[in-house]
Amino acid sequence: MKKLNEQQGLTVENEMIEFANLGDEVVVTALDRLVVLTKAKMTALDMVKTIATLAEVAQNLLATLVKNCGTCEDCGHCEEMDTENIKLPDYMLETAGIPKDAKLIAYAEEDSGIVRVEQAEYDHDIADIPEDIRELLSNYGICMGELDALLVKGEFLHG
Ligand SMILES: [Zn+2]
Repeated sequence: MKKLNEQQGLTVENEMIEFANLGDEVVVTALDRLVVLTKAKMTALDMVKTIATLAEVAQNLLATLVKNCGTCEDCGHCEEMDTENIKLPDYMLETAGIPKDAKLIAYAEEDSGIVRVEQAEYDHDIADIPEDIRELLSNYGICMGELDALLVKGEFLHG
């Protein structure tokens, strides 16, 4: 594991660049949670091999997530999850002293016509995962109930 150097960022040694078959010119692309170093000019073979490598990286991450969540065996929790974030107008949040980007949770009071909404004590849950990614993870067999629990906990996963 490499720690980031505050002055110089991160150094990638030439041996690593050679190992990765990147050639003389590279492109560094910063994405959400990922920095990718690729060949500046690619042949069709380079492109196919890069795609295969990215798929392998994604596969490894999925495998780690499965290890942490487990696969779903009709746990029941998966079907009754709230997959929509609750939204309230900014002025209401401000009046209530709730930060604009805070997570909200709702409690229904039985047969009262009243639903209470308040700031959650956690930052993320399953509703923060875009539907297409949720579907992909679900199709992969990952238990959405367990994933929700891990998102709420926010702890580091073990490989
Ligand atoms: Zn489940």
